[in-house]
Amino acid sequence: MQIHKDYNLSKLNTFGISAKAKFFVEIKSETDLKELFDTPEFKNSKKLFLGGGSNVLFTKDFDGLVVLNKLKGVEILKEDSQNVFIRSMGGEMWHDFVTFTVERGLWGVENLALIPGTVGAAPMQNIGAYGVELRDVLENVEAFNIKTGEKKIFSQKECKLGYRDSVFKNELKDQYFISAVTFKLSKIENKNITYKVLQEYLVKNKIEVKNSKDISDAIGSIRKSKLPDPKIIGNAGSFFKNVFIDSKKFEELKSKYPEIPSFREDEEIVNPVRGREGSQRPSASNGIKIPAGWLIEQCGWKGKRLGNVGVHEKQALVLVNHGGATGEEVLTLANKIIADVKEKFGLELVLEVNLI
Ligand SMILES: Cc1cc2nc3c(=O)[nH]c(=O)nc-3n(C[C@H](O)[C@H](O)[C@H](O)COP(=O)(O)OP(=O)(O)OC[C@H]3O[C@@H](n4cnc5c(N)ncnc54)[C@H](O)[C@@H]3O)c2cc1C
Repeated sequence: MQIHKDYNLSKLNTFGISAKAKFFVEIKSETDLKELFDTPEFKNSKKLFLGGGSNVLFTKDFDGLVVLNKLKGVEILKEDSQNVFIRSMGGEMWHDFVTFTVERGLWGVENLALIPGTVGAAPMQNIGAYGVELRDVLENVEAFNIKTGEKKIFSQKECKLGYRDSVFKNELKDQYFISAVTFKLSKIENKNITYKVLQEYLVKNKIEVKNSKDISDAIGSIRKSKLPDPKIIGNAGSFFKNVFIDSKKFEELKSKYPEIPSFREDEEIVNPVRGREGSQRPSASNGIKIPAGWLIEQCGWKGKRLGNVGVHEKQALVLVNHGGATGEEVLTLANKIIADVKEKFGLELVLEVNLI
């Protein structure tokens, strides 16, 4: 384990933003982590844990220690006639984990195929796509308290997973490092192909779903055809979350904009990045969801460019780095979009991306 100084992070974030970390370290084992806890760099600096860097925006250099999670290993813990419990270390790439499960004929994470990033970051925002969320399959999360060095196992309930949200983004923000995640997957067919685009793809390509791999392959193809590839154009997927409103506000907007798309609990929402987000379970008081992409598009931002940054031409939720952008430029664009949506609709867009 080597601690580097003034480390360039531009290749470690999918936005491709150039930023430096005062200190940088890669950890490959829990022993590395325990050793790291005793170093002065860890004790005396603020810390940032990084996985694939696919949900962060560096707005400036990081004046502290960046810890890159490279904890590897996947093991089957136990199984019964219906379920298999699999523990994955947090530094495994999410899609590799999906591949591991579908190759074994297991059901549960196939709809989440090709989401960038690591297993360890997945609970942070309860990743979701095409009708499935992490919470549907999460058994527990192992995490180290970065002050005491003690490991705690968080049950699914304790993780407080919500729409792109968890306890780790709120009351326990910056307090835990997620080292491993255990999943409960099904041996018994449990397919979720209700999402319209997925259904259409299966019909068009005459695919009869026989196993979970058929679904993960289909989703992989759909995502490749719809989403900007960060290797080609820097981005972090959806920059903003969708918006929940109550029925009073909805009626007010509907009278002004009769075509406004809206979704109630258990209905499909078509997010350009992740398809249907069915299991959002919004609270009854704020139970109507408005796609943020539509709001942004209505303000005329889709496909617009401001210098080195812009809004993707096909996906208004995705902000892109056309090359050489700074995090500040992306943030300026995001703030203009937020202000326009606020002015036109009286709605507050919230960032999905983590600002660093
Ligand atoms: C093209 C594209 C498509 C995407 N599609 C989707 C999608 O369909 N659904 C979806 O939900 N998301 C999507 N995302 C967002 C992103 O892939 C997920 O949020 C992913 O889980 C981030 O993983 P990561 O390892 O890259 O996290 P990072 O970006 O490295 O980190 C994200 C946050 O988690 C923290 N963190 C990371 N690892 C740990 C850890 N081990 N312990 C504690 N904190 C940690 C970081 O400090 C940071 O605050 C997409 C992103 C892109 C670029």
